[in-house]
Amino acid sequence: MSNSTTLDRHPAGEAWETGPAGAPLLVIGAGPKAIALAVKSRVLRAAGFDVPEVLAVERDSTAANWREGRGWTNGLQRLGTLPEKDLGFPYDCSTWGDADDPLTGEIARRMAGFSWSSHLLDRGSYARWIDRGRPQPSHREWAAYLEWAAERAGLRTVIAEVRHAEITDGGWTLTVHDGERTSEVHGCGLLVSGPGPTAGAVDPDGTRVVDTAGFWRLVTEGLPARARQVTVIGAGETAGTIVRELAVGLDRQVTVVTPRATLYSRGESAFENRYYSDPTGWTGLTEADRLEFIRRTDRAVFSQDVQDDLALTRNVTWEPGRVVGTGEAGTGQVEVEIAYGGRRHSHLADLVVDATGGDPMWFTRLLGPRAEQALRDALGGDLARERVERTIDTSLAVDGMPAPLHLPNLAALAQGPGFPNLSSLGRLSDRVLAAYLPAPAAEDRAHAHYEGAAQR
Ligand SMILES: Cc1cc2nc3c(=O)[nH]c(=O)nc-3n(C[C@H](O)[C@H](O)[C@H](O)COP(=O)(O)OP(=O)(O)OC[C@H]3O[C@@H](n4cnc5c(N)ncnc54)[C@H](O)[C@@H]3O)c2cc1C
Repeated sequence: MSNSTTLDRHPAGEAWETGPAGAPLLVIGAGPKAIALAVKSRVLRAAGFDVPEVLAVERDSTAANWREGRGWTNGLQRLGTLPEKDLGFPYDCSTWGDADDPLTGEIARRMAGFSWSSHLLDRGSYARWIDRGRPQPSHREWAAYLEWAAERAGLRTVIAEVRHAEITDGGWTLTVHDGERTSEVHGCGLLVSGPGPTAGAVDPDGTRVVDTAGFWRLVTEGLPARARQVTVIGAGETAGTIVRELAVGLDRQVTVVTPRATLYSRGESAFENRYYSDPTGWTGLTEADRLEFIRRTDRAVFSQDVQDDLALTRNVTWEPGRVVGTGEAGTGQVEVEIAYGGRRHSHLADLVVDATGGDPMWFTRLLGPRAEQALRDALGGDLARERVERTIDTSLAVDGMPAPLHLPNLAALAQGPGFPNLSSLGRLSDRVLAAYLPAPAAEDRAHAHYEGAAQR
């Protein structure tokens, strides 16, 4: 039976207003995006801006996808992007005032209190990190940073799985299940985070053919010695970390099946990085140029960090093509069938890892009939990824929906390549939260608040 309560798992005495005014912004998943939004919301509200508070619904735990045992990593893999690209990056607060306005500086200063270096300072490990040459943190260390910031920002999290999302009264109602019971959570807008479950090129059997989660489970248990020759399907960052673990960490022979000519490295020049931190000029580029940029720098590419490690081993080869099927080879091995250039061929492997990444359209399976129809109307057709990608507005939401549906993971093409990942979480938060602000009135209130605070 459905139980319409909001946040009754939270500390007593804390009540949320759940009507259209004062309702929180809902985020599916308590990962970097939810935490960055909570931090920015807290800082802006303290500065007098009337932005919504943030409420995450998380089926596991804060920053779960960055920890071992949760399917995406063993926790020891290193972060690909610089840790200084943290929750507030790029600390450009011009959304909230002019550059010479003291309020803008104050917001940036308060945001810096949630930075990667503030975390290290808080833990007493800042000087050691500098002395060690500022190494990339492991995913486990990154998760600890995210958890520290979430706690400091007071991110409210409902521990439950989102099962259903429907538009109600101009906002959203999520039906969530915590393992024992079902309840509802209401909010003024909805943001979907996370990579989504893997779409999968082949069916995993859990032993000889595994998906990403199955692979990291096998590694945690101890990858069997029989898995000498491993085929990895996919050439993006999810595959990159798996190939590194196999070839460098575990000394296995790896063949990567990639849909492109080779294993490309991510373009990380200062010119390419600029669009990730600051998408100025992005919308003026032709769609063809934007797609080319994303292909060169983000899709089906390994980070420079992974490439540097792979250059140290001779264990990795690649084959262009798409895996179209797997079958028993009769020798205890798996026959991997590959299509390329109109022809098919196969090779043998001891283990096949399907690392083709998540499906960013996974959230459509949660939508109730009203929400689904509203999305179809906004897209002007069926729920195709290409349509969604072209319809994302400056607040990273689908243009034309009766209640905001923010989809940063699908915002690269329309708004900038940094929004799906960790490259510009501060700007992502500004774009999303600014959508809830009646601009002139809120600006006046914020200044009055700040000036009042300065006089005290
Ligand atoms: C191995 C790996 C390494 C990566 N390294 C980098 C990197 O170095 N730099 C970079 O920019 N990007 C990297 N990425 C991409 C990365 O996924 C994103 O940048 C980042 O995690 C996005 O944060 P997020 O908040 O959207 O989601 P996540 O951190 O993925 O959080 C999503 C959360 O949603 C929860 N969840 C999912 N479904 C439900 C549901 N139905 N109900 C409730 N909760 C749910 C999950 O448990 C999870 O905690 C990496 C990805 C992978 C897989």
